[in-house]
Amino acid sequence: MNTKTTIILTALAALLPLTASAVDIPQHFSQEAKARLADSIRLAPTEHQLNIVYFHGNDVEPAKDYERRLSELFVYLQQFYAKEMSRNGFGPRSFGMSMLPNGNVDIITIQGSLPHKEYPYSGGHGKVQREVAAYFAAHPEKRRSHHTLILMPTWHDAEYSDANPGGVPFYGVGQTCYALDYADFDLRHLGQDTPQGHLLTKWFGGMAHELGHGLNLPHNNGTAQEMKELGTPLMGAGNYTFGMKPTYLTKATCRILDRSETFAPVGDNTAFYASNSPVTVENPQLKMKDGALVLRFRANGNFKHVNAYIQDAPFAVNQDYEKVAFTDVKRKNGECLLRIPLDAIAALDGAKELRGEKAQKGVGGIDLVFVQLDGTRYTCRVTFNWADITAKGTPFLEVKSFKGC
Ligand code: ZN
Repeated sequence: MNTKTTIILTALAALLPLTASAVDIPQHFSQEAKARLADSIRLAPTEHQLNIVYFHGNDVEPAKDYERRLSELFVYLQQFYAKEMSRNGFGPRSFGMSMLPNGNVDIITIQGSLPHKEYPYSGGHGKVQREVAAYFAAHPEKRRSHHTLILMPTWHDAEYSDANPGGVPFYGVGQTCYALDYADFDLRHLGQDTPQGHLLTKWFGGMAHELGHGLNLPHNNGTAQEMKELGTPLMGAGNYTFGMKPTYLTKATCRILDRSETFAPVGDNTAFYASNSPVTVENPQLKMKDGALVLRFRANGNFKHVNAYIQDAPFAVNQDYEKVAFTDVKRKNGECLLRIPLDAIAALDGAKELRGEKAQKGVGGIDLVFVQLDGTRYTCRVTFNWADITAKGTPFLEVKSFKGC
């Protein structure tokens, strides 16, 4: 094919609608998986890929048929992220994966140096991490980004089994996250009202959510109106609904993914997470006006997106699932303005108090998260007593800035 023909075909391909016929599903995938993937959309190719590792102890084997099962699950999950990115206006983009010629996902299988019981949920991460790092040091071409998902097969003992998987690490640690594998971890059970169906939502939804953390995402909830329409955000309690009930990604989530390394389109040569120039917030002011909280501030520094998350105290990790995400910060010459209607945050205790539905006074906080072009995030958190919010202004208890989100 000559260059001219290639250019014409490429241009034609760009005009094609994003339909199922545009995507080939591997022949060896199960019938159920083929049906689930029938409405697949064609994805934008990525510059970097998620590292997917299957790690097991030296006395156990990977769970049966793991390459096909996990490939089907990952392709489905990649589609979920892409469809949500597309719905939020970012195009058919998802985390990139390295694929094998047969259509399976290129899973890096590593046998650990120790028996499986040496890599437990509590404290196993360090040992696994060291062996995975040693593997990447010996095979640098296999490390395709900063982001790594590590799957481990369930233990089989008095407590754990394929019917009650566990024993292994299952959490996120920075840009590494863990999930587990078991015999029925299979797309054919998705959405089924059966024990295997419910188990799949728990562990597949869990993997989808943990992967989100590994791709830089904090917890968040949607506004009251959005949740009524779209269901539960994956980075809220969506790990319990994924596959069973409507589950979605908020626009705030998609903005972070827009500058997450494995979502970068081919040709985007950004050195991800390399910068060290914080965004600072000056002179924040919070007032009540026309049934809404109005936050004004000045932001200094470079950033592509700014998200705001509002919540009740405490602010500790895993006590922040209910924080409501907003993206409509108006910006002009560094001056920023955000309006948070009380209706949108109706589920927060503070909002109930402001609406006169609840007497108890409490502490609230707003996190302003700045997303830079290289994916680095900086947060400025302001905290206040809900009871102190007035039309004239609000005294802050604390204004705190930190790297990350
Ligand atoms: Zn979480």
